[in-house]
Amino acid sequence: MERFNHLKIRELKSLKEKISTDINRIKTNQKETDASGIMEDNKQSDNLDVASVDLANSQIIRMRNRESFYVKKLAMALKKFDSQEYGLCEDCGDEIKFTRLNARPTAELCINCKEESEKIENVKYVKKSRSYSEAIDLQK
Ligand SMILES: [Zn+2]
Repeated sequence: MERFNHLKIRELKSLKEKISTDINRIKTNQKETDASGIMEDNKQSDNLDVASVDLANSQIIRMRNRESFYVKKLAMALKKFDSQEYGLCEDCGDEIKFTRLNARPTAELCINCKEESEKIENVKYVKKSRSYSEAIDLQK
């Protein structure tokens, strides 16, 4: 337990709860999307042109992909509680402050390393597509 020193048990508990709640929320949400279903071309083509059906479907799929990506990150964060690596920077091994984890429970880097990596991202960012910047937004 000594590696958890910088976080109080109460803080850990609330962070773990946050992550679990988020996973459940997204999974429930995805089930609901399943129930309403992705529009099928043959049923909708009378009223909607194929292009708008395709667009709606691709938006759902894109949202799905982002959610799946986020759920994976949440699940990874949850695992770190067991291995006692939660709250430690993946880059320098420094402690990530509770305020940062509270705002972003999936944080993998301490603020210093994050800022460093963002400087690099900003250079790439200009060249990357919109979907990439959306994925980044989701991580924040
Ligand atoms: Zn770091």
